[in-house]
Amino acid sequence: MAEREGKGWREDVGGRGGKGYVWKRLEGKGAGKEGGRMDHVHGTMGGMDEQAVNRQREEQRDDVRHRLAVWWEVSARDLPWRFGRTTPWGVLVSEVMSQQTQMSRVVPYWTAWMNQWPDARSLAAAAKADVIAAWGRLGYPRRALRLQECAQVVASQYDDVLPRTYDELTALPGIGDYTASAVMSFAFGERIAVIDTNIRRVLSRVFVGEESLGGAASRAERELAWELLPQDAAQSVVWNESVMELGAVVCTAKAPLCESCPIRECCLFLQRGLPGLGLKRTRPRQRFAGTDRMVRGLVMQALRDRRAELLADAGAAAGMGAAASEGGVAQPVLRVVLDADAVRALWKDENQLDRCVASLDEDGLIEMLPDRSIMLPE
Ligand code: SF4
Repeated sequence: MAEREGKGWREDVGGRGGKGYVWKRLEGKGAGKEGGRMDHVHGTMGGMDEQAVNRQREEQRDDVRHRLAVWWEVSARDLPWRFGRTTPWGVLVSEVMSQQTQMSRVVPYWTAWMNQWPDARSLAAAAKADVIAAWGRLGYPRRALRLQECAQVVASQYDDVLPRTYDELTALPGIGDYTASAVMSFAFGERIAVIDTNIRRVLSRVFVGEESLGGAASRAERELAWELLPQDAAQSVVWNESVMELGAVVCTAKAPLCESCPIRECCLFLQRGLPGLGLKRTRPRQRFAGTDRMVRGLVMQALRDRRAELLADAGAAAGMGAAASEGGVAQPVLRVVLDADAVRALWKDENQLDRCVASLDEDGLIEMLPDRSIMLPE
């Protein structure tokens, strides 16, 4: 097996005792199913001294790490920003795009984006309208403007080189704890706990035996993430990547694929019968149809469509055809205006439409003109 990162703990899973290794051992020592949580995570086990408990806990953690590393090696999705194939800036762009958007959907946008603006400096100098148009249907388009603001700071204050420290990264526009940690781990190979929804869900299920309830990460979740992080920096990167990947494609929120899970034999949540599967602390998501978010999306899409028409016309006029496709990065500089009638035709509820147009203007994603037409910012 080829090793991408880490060493010394990638031998075949079967060599460590095979299926059921941890739980058979724990059960054999008298750890009942319901008593498992405290027994193997934080507490002591009836009749066992603390050293033995700690040893078993470490063995269980090692086993999970090992199984996940093997699984990552053979199953990781081949995304273009992985495996050292892009710059730290490219990793940061992928992380910003992937927030609230599935990674598989991000790929064509990221690829086109990085072709057009391969570094912070080029993005910093781009026209706002181009940046907004290139964001396409990724959703939450304010992220595009924040990313450009971030690029402007990196270009001007760091000479186009992404800073490497947590404090410097989190001081950049639009970069929070998660993105900074992800960049430090995935781009710079630093040992740092990356804490996102997927990772929290997997860790809570496997090691605590409970459903992670969403909302803000609790102190206990952060402590657990740090506690489980391998000491070796290279191994910590694989750990972060593999736990996150497992949460994205196997241990999903509503329908975990436990049958094919590489750590099913080590998972306390499965052993307990998946209690409270899918429970959320936060309110259920608002339906999308008819929401302001949907109407805002309609307005932005109408502007992008208008822009594509203009580009096609310009390309046809030049006798070369224009390439302005979904997910693609279009050519700059056009004045993209939607007249008042075209705006009005987008949605029947005028009050809601006005509210959404005003909020897009406030966010800097469009400009409202005196005759009630709108345009992409230039
Ligand atoms: S066994 Fe099921 S619940 Fe446990 S980690 Fe795997 S997919 Fe998630």
